[in-house]
Amino acid sequence: MVARRIAEILRNGQPDESIKIQGWVRTKRELKDFAFIEVNDGSCLANLQVVVNAELPDYETLLKKLNTGASVEVSGVLVASPAKGQRIELKAERLEVYGEADPETYPLQKKRHSFEFLRTIGHLRSRTNSFGAVFRVRNACATAIHQFFQERDFLWVHTPIITASDCEGAGELFSVTSLDLKDIPRTENQTVDYSKDFFGRPTYLTVSGQLEAEIMAMAFTNVYTFGPTFRAENSNTSRHLAEFWMIEPEMAFCDLHGDMDLAEEFLKHIFKYVMEKCSEDMEFFNQRIDNTVLATADNIINNQFERITYTEAIKLLEKADVKFEYPVSWGLDLQSEHERYLCEQTFKKPVIVTDYPTQIKAFYMRLNDDEKTVAAMDILAPKIGEIIGGSQREERLEVLEKRIQAQGMKPEDLWWYLDLRRYGTVPHAGFGLGFERLVQFMTGMGNIRDVIPFPRTPENAEF
Ligand code: ATP
Ligand code: MG
Ligand code: MG
Ligand code: MG
Repeated sequence: MVARRIAEILRNGQPDESIKIQGWVRTKRELKDFAFIEVNDGSCLANLQVVVNAELPDYETLLKKLNTGASVEVSGVLVASPAKGQRIELKAERLEVYGEADPETYPLQKKRHSFEFLRTIGHLRSRTNSFGAVFRVRNACATAIHQFFQERDFLWVHTPIITASDCEGAGELFSVTSLDLKDIPRTENQTVDYSKDFFGRPTYLTVSGQLEAEIMAMAFTNVYTFGPTFRAENSNTSRHLAEFWMIEPEMAFCDLHGDMDLAEEFLKHIFKYVMEKCSEDMEFFNQRIDNTVLATADNIINNQFERITYTEAIKLLEKADVKFEYPVSWGLDLQSEHERYLCEQTFKKPVIVTDYPTQIKAFYMRLNDDEKTVAAMDILAPKIGEIIGGSQREERLEVLEKRIQAQGMKPEDLWWYLDLRRYGTVPHAGFGLGFERLVQFMTGMGNIRDVIPFPRTPENAEF
């Protein structure tokens, strides 16, 4: 008999059906002539209750092994459950313990553990309700993202992880080298000699696939990336990881308005999909993590996002009735406290801020006619701040060359990027969504480390 998944059994299982399940014991309750165990296999939040009768062979020995965390296979018959809150339960006829879990040392006890503690046992935290729910929602989000773009005929492109360019110019690069660090040869004036290094030049882990995605958009019109990106963030914040996933659509023949429209439709689609597919998990987040999760989802799906310019945002923040930690002034970047204020206090919904000052944005963003601002847009979300950063790209060769020089970069290093403007250039636009920020926003989880299976943060890369 093939084992069935618990989610499917709880949905479709009928009394008298013979079934087999496999999973991990969550709890055990011993009564006089029998015991109950709750088994979970990760397919859903709920456990399947298994009745273990004293008539089973070696009942006493079996019972000793059935502790929280043990892995089991159970065959038996489904029966209608007399207990409240569950439709059916499984009457065990054969029960095998694959691996025991010593109750003295098993770190996951019945009580609720803090997320900080669970991070120290990252190899076991996915066995908790919260992380089960997080990773199922994460999976649904990823599916919804592909579905959204595939339905609209976007091509999924795989951009390189090792690159030679710092797309954002923010200097948060991880270097990649084939040399042992202590053997890296130096030239006479002590700069690194890359001639013996694998690529013969400095290379880095990508901070964004955008520049390469632009290459693909200039042939396929609409493309998107969905892959890992890396930034040596020296800040220990609750919304920055050193390794995170980004979704970056890039559209030829598209301006900033088309870009904003797509981004808004995209977020609505993902929320709708997840609310449908993971309703039980979303209810759980609303009850246990943050009681605004369902209202937020509803707000995203049913209301238009606010759209304001950076200049308007600064005016609103200057008038704000709170004292910010960081200064607000035209020309300075918005910090998360400012971003959150606009969403949480001023508009009570996501806000799209456009037309940022040129000097605080990357070289590739299209210069506006005022020459002081660029056609950029950030989407800000309550509780998080920026979740999407996008822009129309500079498609004019001369303007782009000047921007590159103004930022202290060499146009010849980006000859291939400039070629896209030399041959068949078109207005084009795109955005980058931080996947973990989206999952964090959706689930109400307070720390970005808790929405990725293996968080990479300063001094944290063990598992
Ligand atoms: P922030 O201002 O929060 O540092 P950013 O402006 O540096 O973000 P972008 O370069 O615009 O980020 O990247 C696009 C998106 O990628 C962001 O809107 C955000 O959702 C996500 N992102 C950026 N840095 C990180 C990070 N270190 N960890 C997780 N997500 C990130
Ligand atoms: Mg940043
Ligand atoms: Mg930013
Ligand atoms: Mg940004």
